[in-house]
This record gives sequence, C-alpha cells and structure tokens, in this order.
Amino acid sequence: MPYSIPTVPSIPFVDLTAQHQPIQAKLEQAVLTVMRQGDYVLGQALSDFETAFAQACGSAYGVGVASGTDALALGLQACGIGAGDEVILPANTFVATLIGVLRSGATPIFVDCDPHTALIDLMAAEKAITARTRAIVPVHLYGQMVSPRKLLDLASTYDLLIFEDAAQAHLAECEGYRAGSIGMAAAFSFYPSKNLGGFGDGGMLVTREEIVAQTMRSLRNYGATRKYFHTDLGTNSRLDTIQAAVLQAKLPHLYDWNCERNQIARQYDALLQPLADYGILPIENRCGEGHVYHLYVIRITATSPLERTALQTALGELGIQTGIHYPIPCHLQPAFKHLGYRAGDFPQAEAHSQEILSLPMYPGLTQAQVERVVSVIRALVEVEVNQSWLPEISQPSLV
Ligand SMILES: *Cc1c(COP(=O)(O)O)cnc(C)c1O
Repeated sequence: MPYSIPTVPSIPFVDLTAQHQPIQAKLEQAVLTVMRQGDYVLGQALSDFETAFAQACGSAYGVGVASGTDALALGLQACGIGAGDEVILPANTFVATLIGVLRSGATPIFVDCDPHTALIDLMAAEKAITARTRAIVPVHLYGQMVSPRKLLDLASTYDLLIFEDAAQAHLAECEGYRAGSIGMAAAFSFYPSKNLGGFGDGGMLVTREEIVAQTMRSLRNYGATRKYFHTDLGTNSRLDTIQAAVLQAKLPHLYDWNCERNQIARQYDALLQPLADYGILPIENRCGEGHVYHLYVIRITATSPLERTALQTALGELGIQTGIHYPIPCHLQPAFKHLGYRAGDFPQAEAHSQEILSLPMYPGLTQAQVERVVSVIRALVEVEVNQSWLPEISQPSLV
C-alpha cells in the first residue's frame, strides 16, 4: 500500500459556497429572470433592490453603483464635498476609503485609531478639525459601528457632515442606530465576500436626502439629468440589474447570516479568553449583538510569545487560512506619499497593522472549525512558552 501522509481538512478564510448552496435555486432563478427579461442596465430589479436595501438600512434612498469605491467617490461629490474641503478619515482603513475622498477632490485628513476597537479615535478627530473641515468619514471597520452618539455629538458641535463608510457593516447596529442611517449618506460595497455580496463587484449609496440621491443618479449615469442632457461631469457606474437581482435574493438571509457571524465571534471570544495572558486579544466589541463581524480580528501584542507573521505562516502550513486587514496603513502607502505623512504620525494605526490577524469567519463556519483554529493557536503558544522556558530549565545542568 502506498505511503500517505494523513491530512486534516483545511479551513478557508472565507467560503461562499456554504452561504450560496442552500439558496442555489433561488439565485439561479434570479439571474435567469433578468437574463430572459433583458433590462440589463438600470432595470426593474435594480430599483426594487435600491428601495429594499435603503429601507433595510433605515434610510430613505438607495442608488446602486459599480462598486463601494464609486459609492464613496461619487457619493461624497453628490453630498457637495469637493476641492477646498477637508475630510477626516481613519488612517487604518481599506485604501478605497482614501481613494473615494481623493476622487471627490477633497483633502483627506487622517487620524489615528482607538487601540482597543481599531475604530477612528474621535478625540483625535476633534483635534484635527479646522475651519476647512467639511465632513468626517467614519469607517465601521470589521463590522462594528463607530459610536453613533459620539459621532452625532461631534458633528453637531462642529457642523460636520457625516458620510459613513459602511462597506463592512451591512445591517450593523449600535446604540439604537443602524449603519447607513446616522449620517447624510453612507457607502456600501457588495464585493462577493462582504456580508452582503453579489456575483461580482457592486456598491450602493444610501441617503436620507432626496437631492443627494438625485445627484447620485445623475453622476452614475454620465451626469445626465435626463436622456442626452448632461449637467455634471458624471461617469458610467451602475449596479448591474443581474447583480441587483442576486443581492435582492440574498437580502432576506442577511440578518440570519449576521447573527451567525456574531455567534461565531462569541465562540472565538470564549475559547481565546485563556490566551489573553499571552498577549492574544480580540478586537473589542462595544456594540454587542449589533456587531456584524465582517471580519474576526485578533491582536498579537508585543507581550505575546508569538510573533504575528510567524503565527500566520504556521497556521497556513496547518491548513488554516488567515488575513491581515490591513498590513500597511493608508498614510504609508507609496501612492500617497505626496500627502506628506510619515511613519510615526499615527502610532496606534501603525502598531495595529503589525499586530492584527483576521481568523476564518463566514456563515457556515462550524463550531468544530472554530475550536480547531483556536486549539492550533493555543498549541503554538505552548510550544513557544516551553521553548522560552528551556534555557532556564537546562541552565543548571550546564553549570
Ligand atoms: C470593500 C471596502 C470598500 C470598497 O468597496 P469595493 O466594492 O471593493 O470598491 C471601501 N471601504 C471599505 C472599508 C471596504 O471594506
């Protein structure tokens, strides 16, 4: 009999088949309906989904676009933000937040993050406000909302417009508010692995203001207010009708998927608890069940016997996929050198980028898989701890 190495099934970082398989027939039907109907651009399923999603967010209008990045860039523009305006955003976000601000023509002003939640530090944000500050873009990072009450306080004190980056926070809640409902407008992404994802790229701006929605509809459609009449320099950025149909079919399941993510996070929290003494700490949850855990992120702090990159490599070799969101903060990306920021400007965001690790998280991840992830981390800690004890133990025999 040929020799074979026993294998343990690997654990992917995200597995979309677990989510799609139970509703496969419904998804195929949604695609086929649009395919046969033929209204591929700005079709019926798009307006149906825009209405349904905006309502789910507790907002009034939805405008579907080609990506979350376009929802940010065009959305800020639709809110009247542009050249000469300063816009505050966290340094530790996905680069698309920054691209959105820059494309609107505004000047991005970075601020540091809270070390425990990784969310924008609102006290630092307050210090960054100048006479030119027009807006703040809170990023509901990893699925947890930036405190709506504190945001609203800050915005009303300094007369700032709140534009939420809710690309990781579909249906997230905190302090009685829902993501997308606290500001003038909010940007969502429907990239496949987001909490609500299509079969390709997609995004949406939701807004409470009719005029913002109107401007956005024009901007995504070549700047036309009616056919062949152009009032703005717009672009071509529409959410495909087929994508909208898929997203509409998935929307009724979103709440349950989010609950499942929250439950998985609680399993991780409980199992990881004993590792806190070894410097392994989950990002703190201040929103309880309202946290929708787009990602489950731990910090391997400086006091840990483990080192982040070594841990990620070891997990990978054992078939456990992880991610880093994000390894380089925006202000240190080569493309944005001209903004004039330097290493050391945002110590928390910089430390964070070195310490964080995102563990597997998706609806369908089983308790057994969560247990395996944590038991492997625990075993790796034990190996490190025993190794660092070894010199002390062997010392006497050397003498
Ligand atoms: C995904 C994401 C975006 C961009 O969305 P795309 O659809 O990929 O363009 C923006 N901001 C954050 C925080 C994201 O996670």
